[in-house]
Amino acid sequence: MGKITGFMEFERLEEGYQPIELRLKSHKEFVIGLKDDEAKIQSARCMDCGTPFCNSGCPVNNIIPDFNELVFRGDWKNAIDVLHSTNNFPEFTGRICPAPCEAACTLNVNDDAVGIKSIEHAIIDRAWAEGWVVPRVPKVKTGKTVAIVGSGPAGLAAAQQLARVGHDVTVFEKNDRVGGLLRYGIPDFKMEKLHIDRRVDQMRAEGVSFRTGVLVGVIPESTKVINWATEVITPAQLKSQFDVVLLAGGAELSRDLPVPGRDLEGVHFAMEFLPLQNKVNAGDKVKGQLRADGKHVVVIGGGDTGSDCVGTSNRHGAASVTQFELMPMPPEHEDKPLVWPYWPTKLRTSSSHEEGCEREFAIATKEFIGGEGKAKGKVKAVRTVRVEWRGGKMVEVAGSEQILPADLVLLAMGFTSPVAGMLDAFGIDKDQRGNARAGTDEAAGYATNVPQVFAAGDVRRGQSLVVWAIREGRQAARAIDLHLMGRSDLPR
Ligand SMILES: Cc1cc2nc3c(=O)[nH]c(=O)nc-3n(C[C@H](O)[C@H](O)[C@H](O)COP(=O)(O)OP(=O)(O)OC[C@H]3O[C@@H](n4cnc5c(N)ncnc54)[C@H](O)[C@@H]3O)c2cc1C
Ligand code: SF4
Repeated sequence: MGKITGFMEFERLEEGYQPIELRLKSHKEFVIGLKDDEAKIQSARCMDCGTPFCNSGCPVNNIIPDFNELVFRGDWKNAIDVLHSTNNFPEFTGRICPAPCEAACTLNVNDDAVGIKSIEHAIIDRAWAEGWVVPRVPKVKTGKTVAIVGSGPAGLAAAQQLARVGHDVTVFEKNDRVGGLLRYGIPDFKMEKLHIDRRVDQMRAEGVSFRTGVLVGVIPESTKVINWATEVITPAQLKSQFDVVLLAGGAELSRDLPVPGRDLEGVHFAMEFLPLQNKVNAGDKVKGQLRADGKHVVVIGGGDTGSDCVGTSNRHGAASVTQFELMPMPPEHEDKPLVWPYWPTKLRTSSSHEEGCEREFAIATKEFIGGEGKAKGKVKAVRTVRVEWRGGKMVEVAGSEQILPADLVLLAMGFTSPVAGMLDAFGIDKDQRGNARAGTDEAAGYATNVPQVFAAGDVRRGQSLVVWAIREGRQAARAIDLHLMGRSDLPR
């Protein structure tokens, strides 16, 4: 423990943000991380509480009190080793994890939690700057081959773990760059893509092969799931060429809103909007990019994806941005004794909201209304109604209908499941929600019903978080190593 009275002496320090006028001019990251001495003060707030709930609140079980102590002592090198022992990619989570660890922090019972995520961010950025993040090339190769379908955080974490124990790993990705939703989905202003590129370089040096632009199986065009593949491989081909296949293709099917006017021009899934901006940021020429300049934008869906649409629309120079949420506005503060150490429901205001957004709660969309004359066929407005929730049921409030101007509507209501055709092509059993069925305990070991085929990440658990994808990738890697070798030294 760093400083016995630290939690009484020091207040929680938040990371800084560039001013709104400045950050809206670019798509680059704008968070100003803690300086070394600030991270030291923050880590001094760790109480050594005895039962570190933060450690179980973190899905990869980061050993938080230990790295706090090391940062307090200025031992950054050992701090990154502790962090890497549970998390392959702290630069991703240190930027975009919602930090369930902090909700579980013991100090959070009656004070502000330790800023764990900001300390994680500081450790990994320092490690890259010092040159401490280097390839870990296996001394012995096993001669076993593993194909991983999907290069999101689940696929990447599994690939890195498996390559480090000597297996020959090939990652197949249908899109033109590696990274899954980290690359195409999550805006660059939340996480710049150089963080993925340098991990990919590290993994290549560790022996991982990447094949981009290759679709495994089938994705029907009608799903509107992005598919920039130029080559197709069948599941049978993959199974005949590799000892094991790990499916890590995410849950890419967007939830639709089939109300009148859905087929009007200007009504799109968030995932038809966000990835194209990522591409432009990467320097690609994109024909007909969907843009929000000068438009009245309505974002339907109050979650993270919706918030990313708000931030991107404001960077485009939208005339107005309004975000709808079906549920009522949650309380500003949680009832801590009631919910701690769990993730609380409370009003969350993101940096994108602060940049400019009207937020409407308890509102449903009844219709998308088209324009007339030259604007025929294009969305011009949305018709809404206020809703109330009674006994768990949604009830429309009579007489509350309104019409709001809208030139661009972005549907950000989450994702229902993986593309069924992809799982069907492999013959994978699905759960009730349409995800790949595979258990996660040591016995079930992420195996599907199809021999030699495993599944991890959003494709198995449904739409989730980067940190959960990393956990599943790591655990699936251990299960696959056990399957191939009869024993495994990889952590669970
Ligand atoms: C806009 C947006 C913002 C988000 N923001 C956050 C956030 O701030 N913090 C957070 O923790 N989480 C966030 N998430 C959720 C997070 O990104 C996902 O939970 C996570 O990326 C899932 O990882 P994964 O590896 O399982 O799948 P994915 O990241 O979805 O990767 C799957 C990859 O597999 C590829 N693929 C699929 N099928 C095939 C096939 N048949 N052949 C070849 N390749 C295939 C896909 O192209 C994709 O690249 C966000 C999600 C979205 C959409
Ligand atoms: S990965 Fe997320 S939950 Fe885990 S320590 Fe980091 S911020 Fe907290």
